[in-house]
Amino acid sequence: MEIKTVKGFKDILGEEATLFEEIENKAKSVAQSFGYQPIILPTVEQSELFDRSIGNTTDIVEKEMFTFEDKGGRILALRPEMTASVARSFIEHHLETSALPLKIYYFGQCFRYENPQKGRYREFYQFGIEAIGDISPVLDVEVIQVAFEILRHLGIKDLKVKLNSIGCRTCRPNYKNLLIEALKIHYDELCNDCKKRLYKNPLRILDCKKESQELKKSLPKMVDYLCTDCRTHFEKVKTILTQLGIPFECDPNLVRGLDYYSKTVFEVVSLELGAQNALLGGGRYDYLIEDLGGRSTPGVGFAMGIERLIEVLKKRNYTVNKLPKVYIVYDQQFITFANEIREIISKEYVVELDPKGDNIKKGVERASKRGALLVFIIGENEANNNAITIKNMKSGKQITVKREEMLKSAKELIEDD
Ligand SMILES: [Zn+2]
Ligand SMILES: [Zn+2]
Repeated sequence: MEIKTVKGFKDILGEEATLFEEIENKAKSVAQSFGYQPIILPTVEQSELFDRSIGNTTDIVEKEMFTFEDKGGRILALRPEMTASVARSFIEHHLETSALPLKIYYFGQCFRYENPQKGRYREFYQFGIEAIGDISPVLDVEVIQVAFEILRHLGIKDLKVKLNSIGCRTCRPNYKNLLIEALKIHYDELCNDCKKRLYKNPLRILDCKKESQELKKSLPKMVDYLCTDCRTHFEKVKTILTQLGIPFECDPNLVRGLDYYSKTVFEVVSLELGAQNALLGGGRYDYLIEDLGGRSTPGVGFAMGIERLIEVLKKRNYTVNKLPKVYIVYDQQFITFANEIREIISKEYVVELDPKGDNIKKGVERASKRGALLVFIIGENEANNNAITIKNMKSGKQITVKREEMLKSAKELIEDD
């Protein structure tokens, strides 16, 4: 029987793989330009890490984690996201003793046992950044700024931040009670999931898609019940966003699906693509490190799914800037000469050596199939005269030039076209 990929998993091939790497490269280089450094984390963690960080009443931990027992009897999980691992690593390696804020970025696969649907797989890739060790609202905005810059580099326009504050341990419990009281009246209108969430995790009801907008509008809003500290922080975030010209809109129903967030939460949307679908999201997590047993250390970050961005770039017909391809066709006996040429021009072109080196005419045909813009031909005549024949495959124009002239002539032959 033919062996195929497992349900919920996929190969990334061809144009998609090219877009994938384009996103990865752009994201990393933008993060680096803001002073963020890489961290490379294991895909497997103790399951408990996610119970204690993401929260054991969230869908991710309750229903979607890949957990298993290893041969040593450890209960392990494939990571469903990466911030918890970053926090675990921060504590384990005493990174609080390094220069703070620690600014790091990560890239890698995560796993969630969800029902596969279009664009959603059980293995998916995330890129994200974290700024850990400083409470300043400037960092909340910087994280958003990095996200914006990455999306702009990918040509995505009309970006906007959706912003909310979900308070802290001082102000959230009181709000939670008010919310439960308000929701109790509408108990019958809640979906089955939300009926269960009502006492355990009522904030999640705010971003459930099944409840009506009217119901949500009638509910108390967290931003109206923030303590002085949270209110000041939120106001500063908004002021700095304005000062830096980053468009935003407050959304009182934005809570994000993870328990570890506090104060700022945000999503970035593109108005061009429809504001309902977030391109990425993140927030502040000032208790996460403490909850995992570390010294109380605030943090803020965002994560974005690569698959979603691939879909977006495909829809926008994004083209990856590639170097033009040169194909070298040669007579087998001149392979050394051909290889020298390859080395010289490989700085400016993608260069392929014809694998056969048998027949010039057939070689040129193969060049055409492989999408070469230029063919460099090295036959007996050329080799004897230390020359190259260059052919533009589009215009059909061809010239024979001295080896020293080849780069200049190749360029002219492309521009002529
Ligand atoms: Zn507060
Ligand atoms: Zn619901």
